[in-house]
Amino acid sequence: MSKPTLGIIGGGQLGSMLASAAKKLNVKTIIFSDERDAPAQRFSDEFIYSQYNDQQKINEFISKVNIITYEFENIPFETLNKINKSKPVLPKPSINRIIQHRLAEKDFINKLNIRTTQYISIEEKSQIYTLQDLLPGLLKTTTLGYDGKGQHLVNSIDDIKNLDIDFSNNYILEKLVKLKKEISIIITRFSDKKYEIYEPIENVHEDQILKHSIIPADISDKILQQSKIWAMQLAEELKYVGTLCVEFFIDRNENLYVNEIAPRVHNSGHLTINAYNISQFENHVRAVCGLEQVPLKKISNAKMINILGDQINNYRNKEYRTNEFFFDYFKKEIKQKRKMGHLTTLLI
Ligand code: AMP
Repeated sequence: MSKPTLGIIGGGQLGSMLASAAKKLNVKTIIFSDERDAPAQRFSDEFIYSQYNDQQKINEFISKVNIITYEFENIPFETLNKINKSKPVLPKPSINRIIQHRLAEKDFINKLNIRTTQYISIEEKSQIYTLQDLLPGLLKTTTLGYDGKGQHLVNSIDDIKNLDIDFSNNYILEKLVKLKKEISIIITRFSDKKYEIYEPIENVHEDQILKHSIIPADISDKILQQSKIWAMQLAEELKYVGTLCVEFFIDRNENLYVNEIAPRVHNSGHLTINAYNISQFENHVRAVCGLEQVPLKKISNAKMINILGDQINNYRNKEYRTNEFFFDYFKKEIKQKRKMGHLTTLLI
């Protein structure tokens, strides 16, 4: 059987790493991005630059590929759904619709009896005055928030008066968890009850942005098992095809909570490129293209650090040891806090 051509919507670092993984498998890729300088074009076979609502360009893209996937979840449902009528989009657009909306996502998780933080939908400021029990809490936009964007800390009722927020965007108020640790599970689902699951990854955030990730996570066996079971349950319930990340909180009383689901490959899984026989990216390509499922084998413990903003200058043109792997995302513009690259060190 000849291999399909994979269309990837989005041309950032995740698109780059997906395209590289596809190349290894001899799967041709076409990147579709609204960024003229999208870094992923260096790694793909073809690149289409277009706005995401340009129907003519979308049609051209669809005509050239067999299967379509995406590197970020904030693509309008209508766009993905329309594309899905011509060529299969994986993960399914209906999954993306649930997950890109914090309220729908948390309702979905709770219906499965999986613990999340306490939360409530907020339509107007005055509502918060009655929600003392959820304070201190975080107000988060229901859509389009990432890396702490669109989040506001509310410590007390007094803080509410000073909140200068446009409540015509919908928010949720989420009780602040007294965090002991954060972990994530990367899982690739191929079909019914067929998975490859990576061990839990311990994540450290700074200013709500991932700073570093490490395996093995320093967690109890109970948390390890529970996080894997919940990740499998979520992937199965969604009938997910491809790689998915579940982010978890562990509180000071050793309670596990699902923070959120990312319906895509994830920053915390970058270390899988060097630490496993098959990376999260390769597994995603294998699953969405219907290629062979190969059992995962861990090669080494590892630590990945994110390189933000102008820190990247310290990493370029540097010599690395044989257990160090530097990835430059080749972004044209250096911006403060922008993810510019990462370094994975195998801990042998
Ligand atoms: P999010 O965009 O919701 O994943 O939040 C980014 C980061 O902010 C998380 O990884 C946590 O470090 C922190 N955070 C978000 N929500 C909470 C919460 N309810 N309690 C404690 N920390 C949180």
